[in-house]
Amino acid sequence: MRKFKLTLTVLFCFSISFSQTIIEKDPLIEKMVKEVSADSLQSYIKSMVAFGTRSTLSTQTDPNNGIGAARLWVLSKFNQFTKQSGGRLTAIIDTTTLPADGKRVDAPLVLGNVVATLKGTDPRDNRVFLISGHLDSRRTNVMDKTGDAPGANDDGSGVSAVIECARIMSQHSFPATIIFIAVSGEEQGLLGATFMANKLKKDSVNLEAVLNNDIMGSNNSSETNIIDNTRIRVFSEGLPAYELDKNAANIRQLGLENDGRARQLARYVKETGERYVDNLQIVMVYRNDRFLRGGDHTPYVMDGFTAVRITEMNENYNHQHQDIRKENGVQYGDLTEFMDFEYLRKNTCMNLSNLANLAKSPSMPQDVKVDVKKLDNYTALSWANPKSGKFKGFYVLMRETTSALWQKKIFTTQTSISLPYSKDNYFFAVQSVSEDGNESLAVVPVVGR
Ligand SMILES: [Zn+2]
Repeated sequence: MRKFKLTLTVLFCFSISFSQTIIEKDPLIEKMVKEVSADSLQSYIKSMVAFGTRSTLSTQTDPNNGIGAARLWVLSKFNQFTKQSGGRLTAIIDTTTLPADGKRVDAPLVLGNVVATLKGTDPRDNRVFLISGHLDSRRTNVMDKTGDAPGANDDGSGVSAVIECARIMSQHSFPATIIFIAVSGEEQGLLGATFMANKLKKDSVNLEAVLNNDIMGSNNSSETNIIDNTRIRVFSEGLPAYELDKNAANIRQLGLENDGRARQLARYVKETGERYVDNLQIVMVYRNDRFLRGGDHTPYVMDGFTAVRITEMNENYNHQHQDIRKENGVQYGDLTEFMDFEYLRKNTCMNLSNLANLAKSPSMPQDVKVDVKKLDNYTALSWANPKSGKFKGFYVLMRETTSALWQKKIFTTQTSISLPYSKDNYFFAVQSVSEDGNESLAVVPVVGR
């Protein structure tokens, strides 16, 4: 045992010259994570698949079939949870009418997102965090509105994670507000997410993070025979889509192309998810999305919000956007039998731990600056207290410029710090931290003189 410890220490010295601060887990988050149930997730997906199709263009009047019945069912689930929340969780179907667009909408359409809001308990805290999945499903032909389109994984998996997080989290209270949303119209052109993102922007809602879950409950690839239920991907944009021209010079000069807000959220998701979920590695992918595919996080980043996409490690294209059929002995279609509910459970836990850690955290430190008045080999950072939330102090984060992840986490109760590391050689950021150890998102300093 002693020998083992020694080896580890030596390894640490050579590989990374920093040591990680050990973060205590928040017992409430641990408790909620344990409550995530593979059986519940499976039952939600079975219920969704039973609607035959959930095409956004399908019937809205049939009580048993189509998108209308499916969204009423999601609403009824949220309303069940409302009772246990002491009235803090409220749910609606938020509708808008869209004209035919000559693309994937062939006639005027009533589009409905099912939105549950768990109101924050701190009246001074106006932050909102959002978890999303898309309720709609599709056939090979995206305009087919009647044939079966089970959509067990795409995106029954994402919606079931949203419902399970709402079930568990609505039994607890958080200073910040959490929105649980099952959107429609993803397959017809990200319509529901665009409607929601534009609305939040118009209302100047302080939406700080979006976790978009789409295809995250199956563990195997179509061609390469890889089975993997221990890794999940988080996609994040590098250069921000929003106001890039305005910010490009600063990003270029300071080397911040890897430190946009979506990328910071991805790092946060990885650190927090791996803290609370066993046997799950969160793999950051340095791009906004996959080739030939889009997702509901994109309308949010286009509107200037911080959003990432969460998707399984290996996709199976025989099971996505495919009519149910057998060809040469191969079963096509997005069927429940191809799901891995233990994997989906872990991925739901990863979402829940992140939402809870964010919503329990104080708000971000304000006015974070790095002092560049002097040519020296130090780094002087300063910041101001967060606007809302009880905080015990701050973490100063530090990493080498080539490192994907923060390597050092320094706790302080002060609002400034001087470190014997040259600001030229490292990236820095600051987080607020609550009494229970919940961190805010990281803020990269601006240059102060
Ligand atoms: Zn999808």
